[in-house]
Amino acid sequence: MQFLAVNEAATVEVACGLAARLKAGDVVALHGDLGAGKSFFSRAVMRALGVRDQALPSPTFAIIQEYDADGCRVAHMDWYRLDDAEEIEMLGVRDYFQPPWICLIEWPGRAPALLPGSVISVHLQCCDDHADARRIDIDG
Ligand code: ADP
Repeated sequence: MQFLAVNEAATVEVACGLAARLKAGDVVALHGDLGAGKSFFSRAVMRALGVRDQALPSPTFAIIQEYDADGCRVAHMDWYRLDDAEEIEMLGVRDYFQPPWICLIEWPGRAPALLPGSVISVHLQCCDDHADARRIDIDG
């Protein structure tokens, strides 16, 4: 599915639409350049899933943040700072690819081989002419 989100609110709508279809055991891989909106989109998905924590810090430093949501738990990961698949696997990331977890992964391209066979891929892209618009492609 392809969307053109003209502003942040439109991105939140797309994220809510995805969240409504997610179930425990799902893994969402978020692709896009720095500033494309991966963290913004992830936070919107997490809020829609019922994550009520006040702050949803970027997991860039913690690598994995865990949250309670409605009927599931959410793991928000950022693989950006990790060098290779071995380092990522050592963190036990595979444990999160099953219920009760819904797993959101930023920079999954660091270790594509570690991803499970069935992944929902979200590609976010800035649009040249409109600073607040994003092209969002969702597959899987
Ligand atoms: P990334 O995690 O991909 O590096 P961030 O989510 O941290 O990107 O940053 C995206 C920035 O773009 C945020 O400051 C956000 O407020 C802004 N932004 C502006 N318009 C949009 C939009 N339509 N969708 C998502 N983010 C947007």
